[in-house]
Amino acid sequence: MGYVISFEEANKIFADLQDEYEIWAPKRFVGMGRYSDTDLIKYDKVSTVEEIEYMDKSDFPAKEVLTPISESMFYFTEDEFIESKATNKKLLIFMRPCDIHAQHHQERIYLQNGGYADMYYKRMNEKVKIVMMECTVGWDTCYCISMGANKTEDYSMAVRFEDGQLRMDVKDEVFAPYFEEKEEISFQPEYVEKNQLTLDIPEIPNKEVLTKLKNHPMWQEYNKRCISCGACTIACSTCTCFTTTDIIYNENSNVGERKRTSASCQIKGFSDMAGGMSFRNTAGDRMRYKVLHKFHDYKERFKDYHMCVGCGRCIDRCPEFISIVAAVNKMSKAVDEIVAEENK
Ligand code: SF4
Ligand code: SF4
Repeated sequence: MGYVISFEEANKIFADLQDEYEIWAPKRFVGMGRYSDTDLIKYDKVSTVEEIEYMDKSDFPAKEVLTPISESMFYFTEDEFIESKATNKKLLIFMRPCDIHAQHHQERIYLQNGGYADMYYKRMNEKVKIVMMECTVGWDTCYCISMGANKTEDYSMAVRFEDGQLRMDVKDEVFAPYFEEKEEISFQPEYVEKNQLTLDIPEIPNKEVLTKLKNHPMWQEYNKRCISCGACTIACSTCTCFTTTDIIYNENSNVGERKRTSASCQIKGFSDMAGGMSFRNTAGDRMRYKVLHKFHDYKERFKDYHMCVGCGRCIDRCPEFISIVAAVNKMSKAVDEIVAEENK
């Protein structure tokens, strides 16, 4: 059912919803961007529509609501432990279509991969209801259409922000009572139909070509350009890697907490193993790993679609102006060269 409501009416609905829900949405933090006089846009709890940044793309993805960059898993003493508590409330999250697709990848990795469900993710994921933020234009680093992530019907409600009012599609019956006596309209969200960026994802026909691609000189460019900061993966909508650390409290060394923190495959030492073994020792090796993971390995394993959703945040965040789209297009050219060489 479609409705049109004023910001004032929406704020009353928000107030009612907050008895049961935390409402999360992209929010602008003025002056907190990484360069002087720039803002940061990231997910945070909101209680009014005016707090939602709906004009610009968020620097960091919606995944942070469910998997914060750092979170406590449990607290321990020398002979027992207590699990950290999750919020008691349900979560209503405003997301763009690419972030909704990214959440499906997160669910697969955290809940299904290897037949094991990550309890910290599960307990949050079970609480989620999605409000899809209509996204009809995109930005200069988006390529969601190439990744098939520009459209979705997986939402409880969809919203179009207009000057002082919201048009909403309310699909989930749970939310129908909040809209009683509101003005009904015919409304279906629209989606971006053209991105400025497109990419050419190569089909890698066999393992021989894959091996040659892994050894192709194209990756060496990144030994000079990539500074291995990991900013691209922290901002990535679909990356899920984390590391764990035990924090021992100063006052009593038998007591502490275990935290998990987002980790990056782009940082030196990510693949260090016990015994001193280490893999992917150059920035180029690590870039190859990331690009192939997003645009080959994941799909090869799960047999449906690539991992990347084309949100472009990795491009936006890279301090060295490295574009994953340019990397994939170069990879495509390299595959063509390798296949042509094999067919000679
Ligand atoms: S690899 Fe880049 S474009 Fe793809 S999902 Fe991650 S941040 Fe978005
Ligand atoms: S690609 Fe860019 S953001 Fe990613 S690790 Fe390299 S320099 Fe950092």
